Amino acid sequence: MEAERQLEEKFRRLPEAGRAENNLRHLTSEPHMAGTEASHRVAEWLCEQYRSYGFEAEIIRYSAWLPQPREVKLELTKPSKRLLATREQPIEGDADTADARAAAGFNAYSPSGEVIAPVVYVNYGLVEDYRVLASLGVSVEGKIAIARYGRSYRGIKAKLAEEHKAAALILYSDPSDDGYAAGDAYPQGPWRPMSGIQRGSVAYTELYPGDPLTSGATASGAQAVAPVDAADLPRIPTMPINAQDAEVILANLRGAHVPRSWQGGLPFTYHAGPGASEVHMKLVMDYQERPMYDVIATLHGTLDDEWVMLGNHHDAWVFGAADPGSGTSALLETARALGELVRGGWKPRRTIVIGAWDGEEPGLIGSTEWVEANRAELQAKAVVYINTDVGVTGRNFVASATPSLQEWVRDVTKDVEDPATGGSVYAAWSESAGRDTQEMRGVARSAPRPDASAPAPLGALGAGSDFCPFFDYAGIPSIDLAFSGDYGVYHSVYDDFHWMKQFGDPAFAYHAALARVLGMMALRFDEADILPFDYPAYAREIARAANELAERGARQADAGASLKAVSDAAATLAASASRAAQALRAVSAAPVDAAKAEEINRDLAGVEQALLAPGGLAGRPWFKHTVFAPGSYAGYAAEVMPGVSEALGRGDGATLRAEAGALAEALARAAARLDDIARLAREAAPSSPVVGH
Ligand SMILES: [Zn+2]
Repeated sequence: MEAERQLEEKFRRLPEAGRAENNLRHLTSEPHMAGTEASHRVAEWLCEQYRSYGFEAEIIRYSAWLPQPREVKLELTKPSKRLLATREQPIEGDADTADARAAAGFNAYSPSGEVIAPVVYVNYGLVEDYRVLASLGVSVEGKIAIARYGRSYRGIKAKLAEEHKAAALILYSDPSDDGYAAGDAYPQGPWRPMSGIQRGSVAYTELYPGDPLTSGATASGAQAVAPVDAADLPRIPTMPINAQDAEVILANLRGAHVPRSWQGGLPFTYHAGPGASEVHMKLVMDYQERPMYDVIATLHGTLDDEWVMLGNHHDAWVFGAADPGSGTSALLETARALGELVRGGWKPRRTIVIGAWDGEEPGLIGSTEWVEANRAELQAKAVVYINTDVGVTGRNFVASATPSLQEWVRDVTKDVEDPATGGSVYAAWSESAGRDTQEMRGVARSAPRPDASAPAPLGALGAGSDFCPFFDYAGIPSIDLAFSGDYGVYHSVYDDFHWMKQFGDPAFAYHAALARVLGMMALRFDEADILPFDYPAYAREIARAANELAERGARQADAGASLKAVSDAAATLAASASRAAQALRAVSAAPVDAAKAEEINRDLAGVEQALLAPGGLAGRPWFKHTVFAPGSYAGYAAEVMPGVSEALGRGDGATLRAEAGALAEALARAAARLDDIARLAREAAPSSPVVGH
């Protein structure tokens, strides 16, 4: 224990803000969208960096079906003619924003198409928004829907527009969400200027992420489907515009008054339409198989078949300073510091593997392809996956994690200093929790805590970054973390080095702090005799969710028996978890035989995999985790017990029975594995000491 503490102390002194800054300067030196040669150059550079730190590193190339915009055109045709799809305006003093290589505003995986139609404003374009429209007697059928960004994943907005038979969809950034109504716009402040465009994918990643044509298999594999058969590809043309273009369209809308909550930040009363605005949209997308370059960096340990994994993507919509460069810059410092420890004579116990993924932005492609290609080895070896994506946009620590690691995440942050307060990251996190309002990272944010003495809140893992294939598909226990703050330049040309230097993290102190948190997590997992999973906590979370479902199901006649089976299985799991934890306490009190410990650890890391259903969730078989998945219509947020919960929501009794059965079986498998752990732990424990009478 003392040796471990010293090692951690030594580690914490190593990450340097100045080096993180240099890393970010390099990573943001040119636009580097997935599928371009610039993305390849970033991968080559990362590979070199990891090698220089003493890691073994290689580039793995996949190919995936990926569009680039060839022509993006939008004009107002009624009540007057006006060209829209205006570009982002260059900002004086920030030369990057004038870079002609920045891609036009487009939504990846929109089909090509040309539409002239009247426009209907659909607020955020959520399920409930279409209900409101129906009550106003407004239909989007054959019209161009215009939705503001926020409250959900943009692909779900596209799916709902398609389901409501819109002819096309326009997405825009309303100033009330991340522009001047939120705070000063860039370059006066960190929020989105009127010409700022949010690029982004509209692929239906809630069905499956990765290469649209090779789901469940490696890209460039044999059984590719034709693009028209790819279920995750949207069917209606969709494009993003800035607030200044949206203003022209929305100001000309008439028709029904919208509810007060639909009013955005533009200076006129919003109407639903249709009329008088009519718009002409033309999109020509260049779809091709394009190369993806993942970087896998490895620091070998004594136990080479136990992997502690960390990762982030490296592709960006434009320069990607916050998204994803900040996380990558920090992770490089983590790796360099670990390399320094090795130079100083340390030998990692487990093997540390760092992934730098390409193609996250269009649809988690690089990580998904790698996980699909290496699933068996990954499931046999990986004990954890730690993700950081939009790593630094401010000072507020935020994290999501599998329930078995939530308390452990809190513990780690108690031993890292917060740069602003000089106290611990945990103390600052407890203080700030609930203030964070970002949703674009795909992390479900917890509501403000009712009482300040409660533990700092962690979210459940939803969708929106590269932990998804690890957790939802392969069942690797995962964590996602960042320091977040006011960030209105998401997916725009303005998310560049200058923005970070002015607003996100001027001294790069939080980049260094992130490097320390990531490294402390890696070290603790690496050095642990017995892996730090808390299954009683997981079982409590499962029991809570089972109770909630039972309450909801009480109103549905035939749901009772199925939900009772889930509750019973949850209770069995809780009992097994508590017996295993008890047996493990005896083990950790004394030195354990190494072979026995390895066996126990393999089982401990494998409980999450026991929660996978081989056939996956109803209607989306790629998603295997029975306890967590992104909701089919919930955007980035996690749905707990998704198969059962969604069937219950639809009142679909047959699916509910099947999904409840699969869930109960998964819980039983997890319980059996915990029983196995309890048995192994009892065998490994030094014969119980005789307690004096
Ligand atoms: Zn990202």
